[in-house]
Amino acid sequence: MIKNIAVFCGSNTGKNPAYKEKAEALGTYLAKNKIGLVFGGGKVGLMGIIADAVLKNNGRAVGVMPDHLFQREVGHKGLTEFKIVKSMHERKALIEQESDAFIAMPGGMGTLDEIAEIFTWSQLNLHRKPFGFYNVDGYFDKLLGFFKHMVNERFLHQQHFDRMCIADEPQGLIEKLKIFDHGSVDKWL
Ligand code: AMP
Repeated sequence: MIKNIAVFCGSNTGKNPAYKEKAEALGTYLAKNKIGLVFGGGKVGLMGIIADAVLKNNGRAVGVMPDHLFQREVGHKGLTEFKIVKSMHERKALIEQESDAFIAMPGGMGTLDEIAEIFTWSQLNLHRKPFGFYNVDGYFDKLLGFFKHMVNERFLHQQHFDRMCIADEPQGLIEKLKIFDHGSVDKWL
């Protein structure tokens, strides 16, 4: 049962206005479907947009932020819950514990780092939770192409590649997360 979803996304809004629009659409969808948002806690970029959309629709938004980032990422003061941690590592660990599934939407290196860690922990069976990409306007196409290259070059299992839930709209993505099957593939090829 998916009660809380972590969304990793940019601390900037990006160039394409679709990123902002689709962040709003996802936040609204989560709130209307009584799914809580877990995220980095910032008011900046797509993070702030999605949190505001959740709150505007009477949803639940939980932020997790290291104290040293509170000023720079402008800690969101209107959240349902705000958890202050000591480091980036603690942030990622707590976000993982608090969430039943994970989504990356357009963002930069921070977003990539966060979803890559969730992917690698899944490969090592450190969790068995669903995860995927909200592929707004094909933003992740090149990255997914590179992951396919990893499979072709025998650094990544096809079955691990297939674990990624990918969609460009909220409902399809959440439906995929709900029917996710972790399976039982060993990391080593
Ligand atoms: P970005 O996608 O680079 O805009 O960053 C998105 C979010 O990821 C921001 O809240 C960053 O603070 C966060 N972030 C960046 N690097 C890390 C990291 N190593 N561990 C946890 N969060 C991170």
